[in-house]
Amino acid sequence: MIYADNAATTKMSRTAIDAMIPYLEEDFGNPSSLHTIGQRANEALTAARETVAQCLGAQPGEIYFTSGGSEADNQAIRSAARIGKARGKTHIISTAFEHHAVLHTLKQLEAEGFEVTLLDVGPQGMVTPEQVDAAIREDTILVTIMYANNEIGSIQPISEIGAVCKARKVIFHTDAVQAAAHLHIDVKAQNIDMLSLSGHKFHGPKGVGALYCRRGLQLYSLIEGGAQEKNKRAGTENIPGIVALAAAMEEATARIDENIAKVSALRDRLIAGLSQIPHSVLNGHPTERLPGNVNFCFEGIEGESMLLLLDDKGICASSGSACTSGSLDPSHVLLAIGRPHEIAHGSLRLSLCEWNTEEEVDAILEAVPQVVEYLRNMSPVWRDLTSGKTPFILQ
Ligand SMILES: *Cc1c(COP(=O)(O)O)cnc(C)c1O
Repeated sequence: MIYADNAATTKMSRTAIDAMIPYLEEDFGNPSSLHTIGQRANEALTAARETVAQCLGAQPGEIYFTSGGSEADNQAIRSAARIGKARGKTHIISTAFEHHAVLHTLKQLEAEGFEVTLLDVGPQGMVTPEQVDAAIREDTILVTIMYANNEIGSIQPISEIGAVCKARKVIFHTDAVQAAAHLHIDVKAQNIDMLSLSGHKFHGPKGVGALYCRRGLQLYSLIEGGAQEKNKRAGTENIPGIVALAAAMEEATARIDENIAKVSALRDRLIAGLSQIPHSVLNGHPTERLPGNVNFCFEGIEGESMLLLLDDKGICASSGSACTSGSLDPSHVLLAIGRPHEIAHGSLRLSLCEWNTEEEVDAILEAVPQVVEYLRNMSPVWRDLTSGKTPFILQ
């Protein structure tokens, strides 16, 4: 199989697996225990926190481990909202194409009396610092904007947005789940107050993530119980997961420039090849995009059918349309960049990592045009388009 769905999740690296095994076997202790086995686990936790902090340009005391990116997003946003409420500030700024972990939390906050402004992301899926500046009001408490979009890969001007938020004294959170360990991040230089990341997006394990929260900024717990994570996240720490997350992050960060160069080259080869398919369009920004992200819409076909046929040909990909998640609505991200419903339904996301090869990219470039042609040939929608009965949307 060719795995080209790394934005959904990644395969664990050997380094990450090897790092976690001792904490499943002999060093299985509870870090809160005072005996040797517990203390070994506690030392591993301390070391993992230092590693993650170092990869982000943060202090170890600013890193809180969570159950993943979703929890980190929820906790960051809920904490800022609580700070705001205490100060009578109940306005939050975000974008229309955030991950649902952000959007659904914001929806709940709206029901609780908060006001949310979702910035338009434009046709290339980009927010500008000027838009953020213009949207900030007296009662704005939080700006939450993702570092890079998980569907279309566009990378936001995070440093510039951070500077605006700092100048306007508004808390700035970024969902960096797609960016962490893939792009250079320095939370201090970029004026990021809170940042979410997740292990399984960079060859670490699922079910473990981290929240960076700048010192001096109050964090509130979502889960009550013991005093773990400085009282901000109760529950016995997932030591094997945390250790493996740190190992994966350290490994990817050490090779970041090499990985960016290699994966971007594969991405560009794929984009150049797929652009040859008539009546197609690349989604996302042409250059400001994640090294591994390729996302196209093909007119006249359904994304789901494309996925199943590609799977038959041994290629694991993903589609923006959310039928898989039980909804018939097309992706909110593709709608946010202005793709009409019928176009958004025909989307394909291929997300690469440093383990993909040129041969695999060439195999994808052979398979996708075949699948597109096959599906178009049996599509009544395509017949209407080619006969001129309905006009093409994509040229
Ligand atoms: C995967 C992802 C999440 C969710 O992370 P989990 O660890 O799966 O909860 C949040 N935001 C973005 C942008 C993601 O890609």
